Amino acid sequence: MIGLSVLGATGSIGRQCLDVCRWQPELRPLSMSAGQDWRALADLARIWKPEMVAIAEEAAAVPLKEALSGLPIRVEAGPEALKLAAAWPGVDTVLAAISGMAGLPPLLAAIDAKKNIALANKEALVAGGSLVMERAARAGVSIAPVDSEHSALWQCLAGERPEQVAKLILTASGGAFRDIPLEELETVRAEQALQHPNWRMGEKITIDCATMVNKGLEVIEAHWLFGVDYEDIQVLVHRESIIHSLVAFRDGSVKAQLAQADMRLPIQYALLGRERPPTEIAPPDLATLCCLHFEAPDMLRFPGLAAMIEAGRRGGTAPAYLNGANETLNLAFRRGRLGFPALGRALCRLLEEYREEPADVEKRIYEADRQGREDAARLLGADLSLFPR
Ligand code: MG
Repeated sequence: MIGLSVLGATGSIGRQCLDVCRWQPELRPLSMSAGQDWRALADLARIWKPEMVAIAEEAAAVPLKEALSGLPIRVEAGPEALKLAAAWPGVDTVLAAISGMAGLPPLLAAIDAKKNIALANKEALVAGGSLVMERAARAGVSIAPVDSEHSALWQCLAGERPEQVAKLILTASGGAFRDIPLEELETVRAEQALQHPNWRMGEKITIDCATMVNKGLEVIEAHWLFGVDYEDIQVLVHRESIIHSLVAFRDGSVKAQLAQADMRLPIQYALLGRERPPTEIAPPDLATLCCLHFEAPDMLRFPGLAAMIEAGRRGGTAPAYLNGANETLNLAFRRGRLGFPALGRALCRLLEEYREEPADVEKRIYEADRQGREDAARLLGADLSLFPR
């Protein structure tokens, strides 16, 4: 049996993970979390009978407890509850499928509790970058990608040595507005963007696909997961979403992974540690498909993509900064507070004006310097003023 914690159980990835658990009975959800939707969480808990459920929204604690009264399921609420769900005893693998930066604290809690990670929550890795990777290395846990592109890369990289890799090529559908004339983008609305041509997903990521910010986040995600430099990661628009990504090798060979656009496949591959038991998903019928198309992304149409990749290149806290800005702008667009082209332009402008405060790093150095002097003086049982600089 593999004990699972399903963080973000009521979302699109969480639900598809539970579908995979239906196929593969050795996967057993022991804890589950949701953001606000206590009704949906209660429904899932009645079906799956986990040992514990966590809801981020504190106010949902009372109705959730009532809904599950009489069942041997512990109910917790608030941000700490998500960490408790992530670190739950008996859990081997945590499916990190919370959307946005809200997923970072529970992800770190899972890593510190030495749980293996199946990562769908790309924002946590974009913002947490080196922190997440270092903590995972220290804890000795693996981070398996659930994102379809990264799963494809992971599959293409199996059995290959890192020094033989020349380039990672991430494919992108181009989102809902890929064919709308540029001048009409001013008037497009969130409801139109939410009609993604190839995938059914949560609202935040569907808007990120329309702006192609999602692909920028995925470039940063690939950089951290596979340790590849930004100049060796390429984005390719491929509208059919049949090739989920490719790896080019130094000898000129290219490997691609093909499958139907069904997230249950990468979820299963991550949860089962690269095992391939049969599923109900048929391989793509290439004779019927006939043609696959490829083109370079149009950076004029998708300025947010360029900004996000630039934030990754800049490093430091720039990705965390721009990801935070994007989460705000994405929600503002969904609420009709901001036009579609304005979103991409805002990301470019914010990044341009963002200065990582060198004072911060410096301040920390001075702080340590002062602390060292004070501690040394204390050790000597002397007054610091006796030891001027
Ligand atoms: Mg993806």
